[in-house]
Amino acid sequence: MIGHVAVGGGLYGTTPASVVVQSMTNTDTADAEATIRQVYELWQTGSEVVRITVNSPEAAAQVATIRKGLDVLGCNVPLVGDFHFNGHKLLQAYPDCAAALAKYRINPGNVGKGSKRDEQFAAMIEAAIHYKKAVRIGVNWGSLDQAKMAQMMDDNAKLAVPLSADALMREALIQSALESAQQAVDLGLDPNQIIISCKVSNVQDLIQVYTDLGQRCDYPLHLGLTEAGMGSKGVVASTAALAILLQAGIGDTIRVSLTPEPSESRTKEVVVAQEILQTMGIRSFTPLVTACPGCGRTTSTYFQELALQIQTWLRHQMPVWRSQYPGVETLNVAVMGCVVNGPGESKLANIGISLPGTGETPVAPVFVDGEKTVTLKGDHIAQEFQHIVDEYVRTHYAEGGKLRTAKASVIPIVAVQE
Ligand code: SF4
Repeated sequence: MIGHVAVGGGLYGTTPASVVVQSMTNTDTADAEATIRQVYELWQTGSEVVRITVNSPEAAAQVATIRKGLDVLGCNVPLVGDFHFNGHKLLQAYPDCAAALAKYRINPGNVGKGSKRDEQFAAMIEAAIHYKKAVRIGVNWGSLDQAKMAQMMDDNAKLAVPLSADALMREALIQSALESAQQAVDLGLDPNQIIISCKVSNVQDLIQVYTDLGQRCDYPLHLGLTEAGMGSKGVVASTAALAILLQAGIGDTIRVSLTPEPSESRTKEVVVAQEILQTMGIRSFTPLVTACPGCGRTTSTYFQELALQIQTWLRHQMPVWRSQYPGVETLNVAVMGCVVNGPGESKLANIGISLPGTGETPVAPVFVDGEKTVTLKGDHIAQEFQHIVDEYVRTHYAEGGKLRTAKASVIPIVAVQE
């Protein structure tokens, strides 16, 4: 729940009561160099916590090296170790790994079977206590504790009005998470070091599970639709689920679990998570571009190219701008396709350009803080507009200087509909 962030805001030094953006690598952790490179890239994009797989002795042996390599690069992003099946052994056998991680993700469904389950879970919690680490009790419906599920199904069958299969599954997820958290507390782990997640891949189930979870515990919650999928499906499903929960004040850390297309950067999941929070007005991360959708008045692709170019350029500046120009993340830039809404929308932005539509005079008036300042024309409109934006940032957001209040902190990327 926003407001009692123990593991998100408190532990990681972000603004209290903010929702933290998390991501996960897809490199082999045993390949320290590749993992350092990807963690650094995710961090540069704005990921505030990065989870890495720790699935083998080879992977565990590299975790401390990865931590050191990131520190040398000035990247202090907290690393979360993702443990399944053999975490108890790895944390014991590789103390440097246990010490280098900021948090251990423990999946109660993959800790061990039968009598070994409690023992192995306890070994991981004891490591967390010993090394003073946070723990995410991360339940996932794809790896739900089968013994627990079987017991609950038996009990459910005896009820006069049994729960449906879906409702039972949701209840099993929640009980698995809460009972494991209680077990960790009983073993001596500080409740403030615990965060919970109960991930499913169906939007409605996720909303129901987290709404219920939010009412039944005070632990910080990590939100995410598991296996969200590829492309627009993954983005839309994650946004639909997370937006409803965030709007209800549920969620302290979020991850958007997109499957990258083969040539796509892993950083897209960070961008999407940030854009969910920014378009909802919860946090600002990077200046966003308001652009019209285009129509029969824009028969060339010029304005689409300019909008994309400016948006990409703005995002690429952020690793440096973030510290150099505080407040720049709320900057609003408009790139509009014609005279119908162009001047109006451009005046509402900090900086806007109204490009000529089909049949209009080939000139592009630029508006700064609501006033028309210059009209661009010729072959270098894009470069000249970018220069104006750059100049604006340097003069309005210089560190220690007067921080300009942006006109809007919630800036849809493609905001204008006819
Ligand atoms: S501002 Fe409206 S009318 Fe003009 S190009 Fe964009 S969508 Fe079309």
